[in-house]
Amino acid sequence: MKSVKEKIDALVEEIKKYDHNYYVLDNPIVSDHEYDMKYKELERLEKENPEFLRLDSPTKRIGGEPLSEFSNLTHEKRLYSLDNTYSIEDINKYIEKVKKIVESDFTLVAELKLDGISMAVKYIGGKLEYAATRGNGKVGENVTENAKTIKSLPLSIPYKGELLIRGEALMRHSVFKEINSKSEKPFANVRNAAAGSMRQLNPKITAQRKLDFIAYDILSCGIFFETHTDELRFLKENGFRIDEYSKAFKESEEIEKHIDRVLKKRETLDFEIDGLVLKIEEKNLWEKAGYTSKAPRFAIAYKLPARQETTLVEDVIFQVGRTGVITPVAKLKPVNIGGVVVQHATLHNFEEVKRLGVRKGDRVFVQRAGDVIPKITSVAEHLNDDMFVGVIIPPKECPVCNGDVKKEEVYIRCTNPDCPAKNLRQIQHFVSKTALDIEFLGEKTVEILVERGIVKRPSDIFRLNKDQLLDLEGFKEKSVSNILNSIDDSKKTSLSRFIYALGIDGVGEYIANLLSERFGDIEKLREATLEELIGINGIGEKVAKNLIDYFEDDRKESELNELLEIIDFQENQTVEKFFSGKKIVVTGSHPDYKRNDLFDIIKRGGGTVQNSTGKNTDLVVYGEKAGSKLKKAKDLNIETMTIDEFIERI
Ligand code: NAD
Repeated sequence: MKSVKEKIDALVEEIKKYDHNYYVLDNPIVSDHEYDMKYKELERLEKENPEFLRLDSPTKRIGGEPLSEFSNLTHEKRLYSLDNTYSIEDINKYIEKVKKIVESDFTLVAELKLDGISMAVKYIGGKLEYAATRGNGKVGENVTENAKTIKSLPLSIPYKGELLIRGEALMRHSVFKEINSKSEKPFANVRNAAAGSMRQLNPKITAQRKLDFIAYDILSCGIFFETHTDELRFLKENGFRIDEYSKAFKESEEIEKHIDRVLKKRETLDFEIDGLVLKIEEKNLWEKAGYTSKAPRFAIAYKLPARQETTLVEDVIFQVGRTGVITPVAKLKPVNIGGVVVQHATLHNFEEVKRLGVRKGDRVFVQRAGDVIPKITSVAEHLNDDMFVGVIIPPKECPVCNGDVKKEEVYIRCTNPDCPAKNLRQIQHFVSKTALDIEFLGEKTVEILVERGIVKRPSDIFRLNKDQLLDLEGFKEKSVSNILNSIDDSKKTSLSRFIYALGIDGVGEYIANLLSERFGDIEKLREATLEELIGINGIGEKVAKNLIDYFEDDRKESELNELLEIIDFQENQTVEKFFSGKKIVVTGSHPDYKRNDLFDIIKRGGGTVQNSTGKNTDLVVYGEKAGSKLKKAKDLNIETMTIDEFIERI
């Protein structure tokens, strides 16, 4: 068993290694959450055993040493870090403690804790004089030329006195996605991407990274501000972007409610936040509150649940989808990400595996945001030095049926029409919620029925009987009658649901709806020509060909005929779209989707198309060369998504 001193020494060395990777190389090897837990453990051990405290302990230092490639800049005001907490109880304790120190009540301003790289920026005579990274808090790197490439950082301001401010250089999620998907060496997260971009020796590269800047503190200025809110207002008046969500609170219960709101908001923001920063509103109390060796006492950070963790890739399995696409899926050492245990992460396709350079046995960063399937953003560490160990080789044959595979763009597909995996997924798709919605027939039950050979194709579902189901392990009268009733109910369905349920490649809910509206009858759709199909706004040549192939296939035809004997078509129910009732602006261009097609999609889905971005706009959908409409959306903090993301969502 290790002695306390040994534990402290080991943690100091471990955290020093993490700090070097994070602050100096902009290439972390553990998640922030894991880092914070180790850091807090070291702090606790040092507090309980001060005799073993080392002078070089990372708990006594801020950030990392400045890189020698840049000229160093000694900060006029020290750039502190922040103490952080993960619980509202700690915030209450903090309030009580500071009240005693400043001998007064106070209001707290809650700001978003922006996850980028902290900077000091100085203006003299209204002109940008310099910009520097935080470095170790006392000395940073002079990155003025790089900072000048940030469009939201003003080069000149109306205020002509000396002004020193602090803010965060950030990379938006949308930019990160674009840059990281093309990068040979992907960044682990937006923070590293922002830091790595800010610390480029060539400002042209920084410019390509399209960083943003949000100002949040005034470090020195000729004007005295009574409140922090006044300070923020002054920054805004001088052309800086500030956090539009900052809010002042008297009561800590209000802060708790605000945290809940921010948690929801986080999913729609285009920039990453890792928490909230609570700052005392009354500026005269800031000096009174003072500083610890690392952080001010007039502010504290509340960290939100993590969205990224590091874990091991134990194995990689190949999943065969409904259309035969073979997807590599990483089997992970289970890891808790913000309260949810994640065991699998998609690797999308084999090009992505190559780009990430991921191998079995690696430690990787796994990201989980909203309802999106967890994904691996980058490799944290190859644990095996031998680059041939754990390599993920694309399959030469289907992993399920050993059938031939072929490469189509970035995908590898099984070409065997009788592949059992394709068949199973198709039947699961047929009964799913968005297709025939057979409520009590879950994926697992379908799998058992297919495995036993009771169900071979979708129409077999309607031939299931009570005895067959009672024969399955764990199935009782009640569950069997639920299944049979829901199968019966599903016979009455809409044409669009039925078309979607057929699982024709490329025919999602939206296209199924279009086809149902255009033809109104399955027989008319079956007889449609290629020209007719291509003539429908929103249907491309590829999908039109898939439809023709489907209806010309003899085996598909006999199954379709059987299904048509069973199905009783009802009026089309319109599918509730995620943008229904929303006011939407479309800007920029896209090689595959014309403006009018997109307008059409929005209108059909119950949305309203707007010509310009305004305060009441709900969403801006943008393509290449998007201009002022997108910029305005970002200024007004309106939700934005690329045309590809929009199409993916529908
Ligand atoms: P921090 O990130 O916890 O908090 C301080 C920073 O918050 C400031 O420097 C500033 O940049 C930022 N900030 C954002 N919005 C702000 C606002 N509105 N007002 C004031 N400040 C705001 O502290 P830190 O010292 O920058 O970094 C320490 C943290 O970095 C650790 O807690 C850990 O999560 C992470 N870290 C991770 C690793 C790793 O290997 N994963 C290594 C080192 C540090």
